[in-house]
Amino acid sequence: MPDLPLRLFNSLTRQLETFEPVHPGEARVYSCGPTVYNYPHIGNMRAYVFADVLGRTLSWKGYALTHVINITDVGHLTDDADAGEDKLEKAAAEKAQSIWDIAKHYTEAYWVDVKALNIRQPAHWSIATDYVPQMIAFAESIADKHCYELDSGLYFDVSTVADYGRLARAKTEDGEGRIEAVEGKRNAADFAIWRKTPPGETRQMEWDSPWGPGAPGWHLECSVMGEALLGFPFDIHTGGIDHREIHHPNEIAQNQARCCTNGLDDPLASGARIWMHNNFLVERSGKMSKSAGEFLRLPLLVEKGYHPLAYRLMCLQAHYRSELEFSWDGLGAALTRLKRMVLAAERFADAEEGGDPRHPRLAPFLDRFAAAMSDDLNTPLALTAFEEALAAKKIDPAARRAAIAEMDSVLGLGLLDLSRADLRLRPKDAELDEDDVEDALERRRDAREARDFSRSDAIREELAAKGVEVMDGDPLGWEWKL
Ligand code: AMP
Ligand code: ZN
Repeated sequence: MPDLPLRLFNSLTRQLETFEPVHPGEARVYSCGPTVYNYPHIGNMRAYVFADVLGRTLSWKGYALTHVINITDVGHLTDDADAGEDKLEKAAAEKAQSIWDIAKHYTEAYWVDVKALNIRQPAHWSIATDYVPQMIAFAESIADKHCYELDSGLYFDVSTVADYGRLARAKTEDGEGRIEAVEGKRNAADFAIWRKTPPGETRQMEWDSPWGPGAPGWHLECSVMGEALLGFPFDIHTGGIDHREIHHPNEIAQNQARCCTNGLDDPLASGARIWMHNNFLVERSGKMSKSAGEFLRLPLLVEKGYHPLAYRLMCLQAHYRSELEFSWDGLGAALTRLKRMVLAAERFADAEEGGDPRHPRLAPFLDRFAAAMSDDLNTPLALTAFEEALAAKKIDPAARRAAIAEMDSVLGLGLLDLSRADLRLRPKDAELDEDDVEDALERRRDAREARDFSRSDAIREELAAKGVEVMDGDPLGWEWKL
């Protein structure tokens, strides 16, 4: 029942709302993308898995989806308010490289992770530096009524729009909790929309503007690219919960100024109808911090022998609005669960295409799946309906294949394309390779057939010493694991 109404939690109104597209039959979604000054950590990737599941759900429900994810290659300071340096300028200086090379390198690394996690390509990867003329035009259009100039840049006066900061959970109207980094600001929450290059300095990235050479503010980018590619108002804006406090309130204030709308009680005044935020992936020992030496990146998981889609499944096991705690045990459990799903799905991968997923014995599972996804993307519940559909007995293989394909189009685990062998990744530091293990197991099978049990036990011990556990009679059909 992809036609059930889709209910989504809107952070702006703080309630569940039924999705009603601004343009009939379409869904236009903007997701705040990465700042490409370093590799993304797996927490960042949770934000894109969430946005991907949202996009897949909208497509499954029949909306023509236009998804934009931006790449921030300028303007994001080391502090989300106006303190600190530009993250990219800083990384370029530290590595003595051109900022453009830094941005290219980390953008490409991000795209590798996107692909590994089965995150679909959005319609547009919008790159901030491609939109600087539009940013200047946007700033000029709101400057008279909403901005003032200081030596360091052009600032947005948050008192010129109604309801500033409604989205934020912290009390920010009076700037409480903000660092007053810039002298002369009228309100502590005022923010730069254009940062002038200080006299006597040159930045690697700077553009001429009516306010002198400089660079755009980070919040301006997203307002401009959202308007340019999706038009105001568009349907849904996403980001991680940290963006609820500063980045998105500032984007909303700019959008109000631009659209000449004021109070946020008009649901279309903020530029987007629904603002959605994923909760954080947390890791207690600090490995999520990009300043930690070996921080948690997707390739690290793979090096340790975990398939990237086990991480995707780990994300789906939690509701996107719940905090998710990372642990290696949790990831291991997700991998085992993925293996079970692959093992079940593998049997139907070659079944005829074009079966009817609404086979009477499958329909109840599909209905539960649809109800779960329609209820603010309840992926943990949808997963259990999916697993029950995989396990149900006596169902025509073509119908089952069709049901698997339908549910997987939403969850994106790629179950019909994965095989057991794909999931058996070898940790980088493992001493044996897969051929050695298979070879030893072959010798062990021969020994057992010859009823030479002491030899068979010796081979088992030999493997155990190298960290390989032999699993006789494992119901999953895995003969060994590391
Ligand atoms: P950034 O590259 O820092 O701008 O972050 C990219 C995206 O990841 C943003 O939507 C952030 O809100 C989100 N994000 C950052 N840290 C985490 C985390 N630990 N868990 C989930 N999302 C995060
Ligand atoms: Zn943004």
